[in-house]
Amino acid sequence: MPRELARVPARSASIEPLHSLLEDAAWDVFIRTMRDTATQLKNRTIWNINSTVRGGGVAEMLAWQIPYERGAGMDVRWLVIQGGTPFFTFTKRLHALLHGIAADGSMINDAERKEYAQTLAGNAEAVAREIQPRDIVILHDPQTAGLAPYFVRHGCRVIWRCHIGVDQPNEVAKGAWRFLLPHVAAAHATVFSRRAYVWEGLDQQRVDIIPPAIDAFAPKNEELNGETVAAVLRITGILADGPAGQPRLKVGAIAVERTTDLFPAARLPEDARLTVQVSRWDRLKDPLGVMEGFAQFVAPRVDSHLILAGPGVSTVADDPEEAEVLREVEDRWHHLAPAARDRVHLARLPMDDAQENAIIVNALQRRAQVVVQKSLGEGFGLTVAEAMWKGRPVVASRVGGIQDQIEHGKSGLLIDDPHDLAAFGAAVVSVFSDTGAADRLGAEAKRRVQRQFLAPRQMMQQAQLVGRLLQHAT
Ligand code: UDP
Repeated sequence: MPRELARVPARSASIEPLHSLLEDAAWDVFIRTMRDTATQLKNRTIWNINSTVRGGGVAEMLAWQIPYERGAGMDVRWLVIQGGTPFFTFTKRLHALLHGIAADGSMINDAERKEYAQTLAGNAEAVAREIQPRDIVILHDPQTAGLAPYFVRHGCRVIWRCHIGVDQPNEVAKGAWRFLLPHVAAAHATVFSRRAYVWEGLDQQRVDIIPPAIDAFAPKNEELNGETVAAVLRITGILADGPAGQPRLKVGAIAVERTTDLFPAARLPEDARLTVQVSRWDRLKDPLGVMEGFAQFVAPRVDSHLILAGPGVSTVADDPEEAEVLREVEDRWHHLAPAARDRVHLARLPMDDAQENAIIVNALQRRAQVVVQKSLGEGFGLTVAEAMWKGRPVVASRVGGIQDQIEHGKSGLLIDDPHDLAAFGAAVVSVFSDTGAADRLGAEAKRRVQRQFLAPRQMMQQAQLVGRLLQHAT
C-alpha cells in the first residue's frame, strides 16, 4: 500500500548571516563550495528523508540546514516517512540494538523484518513518481535505511546518513548492523558522525565522516539577554512569577505563551541556581541516573535545583516509549529523599510550536549554572554543543560524540563511567564551588563550538560529498 509521506514545507533562508561566524578566507571557501554544488545540481533536487518532523537531533538539524541550502540556490526538500506503531516500536528497538542494548532480546524476528520491509515499500511507492531518477536522496538513520535499494534502482544518487553509533560495538550492535547492511550497502555513500562508528563490512571508500553542528541563529541558539531569559521562564511557568506577571511575550517574531507542565507542580524560586538536562524521555539519556546522582551527591552539598526538561509527551512521532520512561522517572521521584525531592523538577515543554519550544530550551540552557548530559550512549549530543555555544559549563558522560566536543577540564567536564553517580555529582558540585573555573570552561566551550561545530562546516562537508557523487552521475 502506498503511504502518504509528510512533506515538510520548504522555507529558504539567506546564508549571508553565517559570514559573521567565519574569517573572510573561510567564508570565501564556504560560499564557493555551496555555489559550485548548486551549479552542479542543475535541475536536480536533494531529498532528505527521515522519520519525524520534530523531536531529536536529526529533525533539529534539518530544520535549519534545508532553508540555508535553499537560500544558497539548491532545491532541497524534506519528507517524513509514515508508519504504524509496530514499525516504530521495532525501529526504536533497532536504535537500542545499534547502541548495543538488547532489553527485549537481540533477535530480529520475521514479523519485525516483514513490518520494516512492508512499511518502507509503501513509503517508497508513495514518492516514486515525485522523486526523479537523477535526484539526490539523503536517508537519515535506521528507520529509512531500507529505502536505499529502492532509490538506487530508481536511478537516484543515494546517501545514507547514520546519526547514531557506539564506541565499542558488541555482538548486539553487530547483529543490528548485519540486519541493515544489505540495505545500507546499496547506497552510493554513507555518512557517520565519528570514525569509531563506521561499521565493519561497509565499503570504506564510500564512507564520509561528518560531525553534526548547530545553527547559531536558530531560536534554539540565538542570543537572549538575561531579562528575556527570565521572562521566558516565568511566562512558561518554570520560574516563580515576578510581581508583574504577563500572559505572553514576544521574542522577535516568536510568541511565548504556552505553559510547561511541571512535576511537581510548584514553580522554582526566581533566583534558583539551576542544573539542567534537556533530553527526549529516553533511557539512554539516563534521566533516572541524573535524578539519583543529583539527589545523593549534589543536593546535600549545594543549593541547586535540578530540571530535567523534555518534550511534552506523545509528541515525538517515532518514539513510542517516551510516556513509559516519563512514568518511570515520576515513580522514582517519589522515592527520593524528601529534602532532595523538593529540588528535583521534571519539565514537559510545550511542543505545539517548534520555535516557542526552542526559545524555552534556549532560555533554560542560558539560565543554567551547569548543563548536564549524563547519557549512557550518545550519537553526538547536540544538547552539549547548544549549551557550550551559550558559554555554559557542561558536565557530560565520556561517550559517543560528546568526547569530540568536550576536552575534559578545558571546555567542560567528562565523566569516564556514565554509571558513576558519585563522580557525576562531584563534577557538578565542583562547577558550583569554583565559579571562576566554571566561567573559564564556559568561555572555552564557546570557542570550541565556534571553531568546529557550527552550521557552515557541516553544510560544506555535505555539499562537497554531493558534488563528488554528481561527478560520477550521468
Ligand atoms: N530538544 C528540544 N526539546 C526537548 C528535548 C530536546 O528541542 O524537549 C532538542 C535538543 O535541544 C536538541 C535535540 O532535541 O537540539 C536533541 O538532539 P541530541 O543530539 O542531543 O539527542 P537525540 O534526541 O538526537 O538523541
